[in-house]
Amino acid sequence: MNKREFLKTSVLAGTGFLAAKTISANENNFSKNINPEKRHWVWENPDNRENDGQLKQKYSSYYDAGVRGIFFEADSERHFRVANKAGLEAHLWMWTMNRGEKELLETHPDWYAVSRDGKSCATHPPYVNYYRWLCPSKPEVQDYLKNQVKSILEKEYVDGIHLDYIRFCDVILPVNLWDKYKIDQTRELPEYDFCYCETCRSNFKEKHNTDPLEIAFPDQSLSWRKYRYDRITHVVNQLAEVAGSFKKPITAAVFPTPEVARRIVRQDWTNWNLNGICPMIYHGFYKEEVSWIGDAVAEGIHFLCGKFPLYAGLFLPDFKSIDEFEAGVKTAIENGASGISVFGKPDGKILGVLKKYKG
Ligand SMILES: [Zn+2]
Repeated sequence: MNKREFLKTSVLAGTGFLAAKTISANENNFSKNINPEKRHWVWENPDNRENDGQLKQKYSSYYDAGVRGIFFEADSERHFRVANKAGLEAHLWMWTMNRGEKELLETHPDWYAVSRDGKSCATHPPYVNYYRWLCPSKPEVQDYLKNQVKSILEKEYVDGIHLDYIRFCDVILPVNLWDKYKIDQTRELPEYDFCYCETCRSNFKEKHNTDPLEIAFPDQSLSWRKYRYDRITHVVNQLAEVAGSFKKPITAAVFPTPEVARRIVRQDWTNWNLNGICPMIYHGFYKEEVSWIGDAVAEGIHFLCGKFPLYAGLFLPDFKSIDEFEAGVKTAIENGASGISVFGKPDGKILGVLKKYKG
């Protein structure tokens, strides 16, 4: 399908993503230049106390503001179907590499990532108890994740998959958390540096004749960095193939810019085979001003080279006023974002701003 035909299909279908169902999810037909309509997203945790009438009203108000899809943090067929009826795509938001389910911890502790000081996330989670990172290099982990995505997308009411925690553990935390954890991360510390499991060490040694544990300055080894970028990329691209087989779109929530993402969580997201990306451009986390949102979007757009659209993830609690929020949305759109992805509960004022930037 050429770009002109795609545009036609897209306009007919009303949305880019629904049009994707008729083509391979990996054909990268989602360039921001193809569909000028801005499409917004909301990250939502489905609340089972809300009745159908309340949901219908809420999701219709989202649609009216230019929201075209919801990333649901949990599977709730009722929410998905009501959202669909309101014209929204309903995607399931999946925690990917960070998986602390009891069954996995008990049956496959060997699947978990190991730090430079030899501790497994299965027994010694870094920073917080829910940080249970799997090793992306193990074929068993890859198969497990592919099966998870398959079982999600087999459900007819699920329109797409949204990957979260698709990365390594933070080797460096965002700077506003250093105080909270009483930690100085001006260099990469061994207890937060992953993965030094047997699989990763032997795979790397086979290719580069060096055991990563013997690298004098591991944070300065370009090959060791790249090895880890590529492990996550490989997982993503395998999951993209699964999504493609269902002709359903795959997107991800990632760190705010390509440079920050690679440096602190080994995410090389501009090289992934996705249908869209939602960088979490949460300026407060990095002690940045609202204007930085535009800089972050511009960097992402530059390195994506039109591969797929970028939706700027904004964190509502970071904004001190509605005017500040509007300034954030404006600079994101002006720098090339295809829409906004909202974290937090959008009220009428927030929706009003989104509506101004939907066309
Ligand atoms: Zn490993």
